[in-house]
Amino acid sequence: MRPGKNRDGYFSLADIEEQAIAACTTVSERWPEYDHVFVYDNATTHHKQSAGALSARAMPKSISGTRQGGKKNKNPDPNFLVPVNKRNTDGTLMYDIHGTLLKENIQMTGASFADGTVQELYFPSNASKHAGKFKGMELLLEERREKGDLGNISADVLKKKNTECKSFKCADPHSTSCCMRRMLFNQPDFSAVKSCLEDTCAKHKCTVLFLPKFHCELNPIEMVWGYAKWIYWLNPESSREDALERNTLDTLEQVLLESMRRFV
Ligand SMILES: [Zn+2]
Repeated sequence: MRPGKNRDGYFSLADIEEQAIAACTTVSERWPEYDHVFVYDNATTHHKQSAGALSARAMPKSISGTRQGGKKNKNPDPNFLVPVNKRNTDGTLMYDIHGTLLKENIQMTGASFADGTVQELYFPSNASKHAGKFKGMELLLEERREKGDLGNISADVLKKKNTECKSFKCADPHSTSCCMRRMLFNQPDFSAVKSCLEDTCAKHKCTVLFLPKFHCELNPIEMVWGYAKWIYWLNPESSREDALERNTLDTLEQVLLESMRRFV
């Protein structure tokens, strides 16, 4: 890979997932009798949650389509949907003929009440009012309140809560009820959402372990790279790209399985 804007691009989450799917498929096909665990650095990309996963981050307060725009915008607000990458049935990403990732807007899913029953985030598509529209944080919280999921808060107190504290930087970091967004954010189903990588690997029967933050040197693969570089330097210098590429691949092949195991 030649990284850069006008070259091969950068290694994105989509690439990481594609690589994880390939790795999970390979190991489960070749060694079906084992449990497979992949160790990842504690990096932001690795922790990213899938688009479409339950998240209180961008949720509007009211039912979609009910809030009228101001003077400048006469249209009511659009339905709250989330853009996701389109995928083939085997989970791989879909591209158009120009190699651009295909996207689609989908409904957010994954909410459940404390008793485990599903909480619909949208009105049914055949509802007489608000058909297919997002319910909004206020109604979602009210439904949870009625189920007893929010303690003994009254409907009136709930209704008067702000949508969110300024820029979602809540003054009290331990508060679970300062604003609507914080209340949802702290609900068990919202806080249990897994990262894309964990989800992707789980679908392919593999487990992911994240290293402690800022301790990527604990990753055994670092020792493999180090060993490979040491062998690489024994090769003669060259300015020919094909020679360098061949040396790199040869070098990686020379790291013995036995020494890799020792690093682990
Ligand atoms: Zn708050």
